[in-house]
Amino acid sequence: MIVRVHNLRLHVDEEEALLIKKAAQRLGVNPETIEDLKIARKAIDARRAEVYFTYHVDVKLKGGMRLPRSIFRAPDISLVEPVREEPLALGSERLTYSPLIVGAGPAGLFCALTLAEYGYKPVVVERGRDLRRRVEDVERFWQCGELDPESNVQFGEGGAGTFSDGKLTTRIGDVRVEKVFKTLVSMGAPPEIEYLKNPHVGTDRLREIVYNMRRRILELGGEIYFEARLTDLIAEGGHIKGAVINDAIEVDAEVLVLAVGHSARDVYRLLYRKGVSLTPKAFAVGVRIEHPQALIDRIQYGKYAGHPRLPAAEYRITYQDEETGRNVYSFCMCPGGYVIASASGENQVVVNGMSYCARDSGVANSALLVTVSPKDWDEDILGGVALQEKMEKAAYLLGGGGYRAPAQKVVDFLMRQESSSFDRLQPTYRPGVIPANLDRILPDFIAEPLRRALIDFDRRMPGFAGKEAVLTGVETRSSAPLRILRGEDFQSVSLKGLYPAGEGAGYAGGIVSAAVDGIKVAEQIIRTYAPPAKKT
Ligand code: FAD
Repeated sequence: MIVRVHNLRLHVDEEEALLIKKAAQRLGVNPETIEDLKIARKAIDARRAEVYFTYHVDVKLKGGMRLPRSIFRAPDISLVEPVREEPLALGSERLTYSPLIVGAGPAGLFCALTLAEYGYKPVVVERGRDLRRRVEDVERFWQCGELDPESNVQFGEGGAGTFSDGKLTTRIGDVRVEKVFKTLVSMGAPPEIEYLKNPHVGTDRLREIVYNMRRRILELGGEIYFEARLTDLIAEGGHIKGAVINDAIEVDAEVLVLAVGHSARDVYRLLYRKGVSLTPKAFAVGVRIEHPQALIDRIQYGKYAGHPRLPAAEYRITYQDEETGRNVYSFCMCPGGYVIASASGENQVVVNGMSYCARDSGVANSALLVTVSPKDWDEDILGGVALQEKMEKAAYLLGGGGYRAPAQKVVDFLMRQESSSFDRLQPTYRPGVIPANLDRILPDFIAEPLRRALIDFDRRMPGFAGKEAVLTGVETRSSAPLRILRGEDFQSVSLKGLYPAGEGAGYAGGIVSAAVDGIKVAEQIIRTYAPPAKKT
């Protein structure tokens, strides 16, 4: 019998070894009778002056010892039922060709891995380069400002997630989340991601995971091709028949999973031309803010800032702007991280954030985003893309070229005046920043709510809008600006056999939810079709 004890609390100065004693007390047993204790959930509670860790723990009692039934009436004690994963029943209609997966981001890789595990021998085509060469391309871009439009932070093996912070938080309540975590651990992620409330792996560990996923898919008979860009779709009678790769090679496929992410604007335009059903959707744009990590630690942990048991502090903060009805919120907060150049198109400046596993850069960054909706561009299907591109090009010009980004001290932004230097905190963005006035590139409907939000955030987190805080622009790729409409069978409502998946399709936001969406699409394909008789 395994029993879960919820909400045990340890002070930050207490040792985890005490959990056995606390769990035994709660269960009314002698600590000696506990054979094993596993942490099922761990979170930091820093809401008050004292800092605590809260835990759910799974306890196994010695010698099959059982507890009285009455104990389970307590709200914080429950029985852990073993979860049995039933294998999926394969569909009856045999595929002629291997499923074709376009994009090797989290959605594409998890879709491919699931299909490969069931013997479907998927073929993955990825426009960017393999990990090793991609890392070199991205480093060159950050060092010298030489962008490769096909191999960058958005495009290449592992997708947009590879150079990310590797935060694995998700709010989707899907049973497959556990499967994603287990897979990530089996591919090299630290085991604690399975129980931490805010799990994180860092870009360094993610790269190892992505490489191991590729190896596993290949071992299972899948194929992965890099520098292989989908340039056209072949369709007949409302059904997909295949794809054109690099304007040259035709690949037959009756099942095509489109997991291209939200930066594949050429694919959005291709779908639009082909009459595939798309709809514009709300998303958010803004800037990255940076603070000394020590300041955020002080705000969040008070006198315990710098405590060796506490990680670099995080925050999540939101503001509802009454004047415009827009939300302003922190997004993808990276403690101890870096603001990175994340463009995929020429002469465009895009910022985002990442960190390494150790989160020890000494600087905290987060996107500060303002919601925008199709009403802002007259519901035009590609209007959201146009807004992103306009802001990215304006940021490039204001940065003076070479992919330098415009940056401004928060105090100057609040005063609507250009910054001249960064004396307190140098922005971490490479290949460099130019002190600027961000009002020159942010539309008023973004800049004004952002200013009001900063004042509100500073009231709730004193120092947030202080002299050390700097902004770098622009952050435009937080989520997809449109949705590729799919039905309950996960296929495009207008083109059968086309399975839009992941973030670019508008059905996920973040690494874990994109991975889950990839698995869901794979499961649907498995339930519908039998694997091809031989590799095609
Ligand atoms: P993507 O990861 O975008 O993958 C799509 C893939 O398709 C790409 O590899 C692309 O090259 C390929 N592709 C595009 N067009 C074509 C084509 N025509 N032919 C062939 N291949 C094509 N999320 C988190 O949850 N936590 C984080 O900490 C986090 N940090 C981030 C930091 C950065 C710098 C960035 C850029 C993103 C971050 N994200 C984070 C977001 C996360 O990376 C995405 O949500 C996730 O990667 C989406 O997965 P996806 O598979 O749907 O798309």
